[in-house]
Amino acid sequence: MREDYKVLPVVQKLSKEEQIVWINQKKIPFAQCSLKIGMSDIDEAEARLQRFAPFIMKCFPETGKENGIIESILTPIPKMQKHLEETYKVRIPGKLMLKQDSHLAIAGSIKARGGIYEVLKHTEELALEAGLLTVQDDYTKLAEPKCRQFFNQYTIQVGSTGNLGLSIGIASAAVGYKVMVHMSADARQWKKDMLRKHGVTVVEYESDYSEAVKEGRRLSLKDPKSYFIDDENSVNLFMGYAVAAKRLKKQLNEQQILVDENHPLFVYLPCGVGGAPGGITFGLKEIWGDNVHCFFVEPVKAPAMLLGMATGLHNDICVQDIGLTGLTHADGLAVGRPSGFVGNVMEPLLSGEFTLEDKWLYEYMRALTDTEEIFLEPSACAAFEGPIKLLAYEETKEYIERNGMGNIMETASHIAWATGGSLVPEEIRREYKDTYLD
Ligand SMILES: *Cc1c(COP(=O)(O)O)cnc(C)c1O
Repeated sequence: MREDYKVLPVVQKLSKEEQIVWINQKKIPFAQCSLKIGMSDIDEAEARLQRFAPFIMKCFPETGKENGIIESILTPIPKMQKHLEETYKVRIPGKLMLKQDSHLAIAGSIKARGGIYEVLKHTEELALEAGLLTVQDDYTKLAEPKCRQFFNQYTIQVGSTGNLGLSIGIASAAVGYKVMVHMSADARQWKKDMLRKHGVTVVEYESDYSEAVKEGRRLSLKDPKSYFIDDENSVNLFMGYAVAAKRLKKQLNEQQILVDENHPLFVYLPCGVGGAPGGITFGLKEIWGDNVHCFFVEPVKAPAMLLGMATGLHNDICVQDIGLTGLTHADGLAVGRPSGFVGNVMEPLLSGEFTLEDKWLYEYMRALTDTEEIFLEPSACAAFEGPIKLLAYEETKEYIERNGMGNIMETASHIAWATGGSLVPEEIRREYKDTYLD
């Protein structure tokens, strides 16, 4: 591996666990991007989710209100906005909103998008190949005993820090698969317990996420009837996440919120391995191009994607290489090595990244429950670092000027992407509420 990255100022700051913003100098005007994937891939994923909607509704009656479409609400959070401005003595110009993937049906996190989508795509492929289904069929037939028995010969495996396992585990069990989830050391006990209740085999590792993934991939390869959902490389997961952008467009239209040259949209996404925030960013850029500005947020103890992008080394570098432990209270973000696939796609698209110390996760979490009565898990609260610091760092102020937005920030919209929380048990919520870190 190249060693010259060590002298980069950004790497030195990361290795000292400093809170920073990093602006992506490789971002280019959207019209000049030549991506190998595009809107037609997102359309295909959306159509597949539509075909499965009757089946989802049948397996998960709680999705009935939305006719089997798993989607979250977008809400203004004016009290939180005011609270953040007053507490942190900053301005958040424009309107702050919360995209509540924390409350997505079935998995209670953003993983209900990519994870469930990939399970369904695999299911469709198997069923079509076996002649159990045509794409014109009513997909509720997949819930018949004959089909469930068919799927029960197959195994789905996945490596997870928790939420991906929950989403894949619950969805796969509903289809009828055997499921094996390889959990990293930081995964919370309640997530393991919940999965076991769904009949999922949970394999526990003492190591971090990357090791759990590696071992899961190895075991799955040995079994021809096993399918491994590969969070580090999966284009399917990515497209499942990307569909969120089309749904968001509809919601913004309904709420009469403009996104154009005079009304920029800022989106702040907590990032782990990169699939979820990357897929969503890709979708948003396909729709709004240069008028949307996407920032990832990572903990100072595990800034894997930032490290990969800033050095250009992507998955050839991990946070342990610069002396970090990767251990963070943000369990959903406790990833040492980023997805190389996602990092490469993000190079011309992503605006930048913020990092934050773990203690703020709990502060922002309490602030949101106190002001808006919405509970998020600590990882998800990383998103608030974006709007708080947007006008606090010189680098972001310069970004705003350079992109000609100096005079239009009052008409901006900001979306903090809430990535998880609704499945967190009551006693764990109380524990989080009473957690204060130095
Ligand atoms: C998984 C997860 C993320 C980040 O998604 P990646 O695809 O790992 O980058 C963010 N927040 C929560 C709560 C998550 O579970």
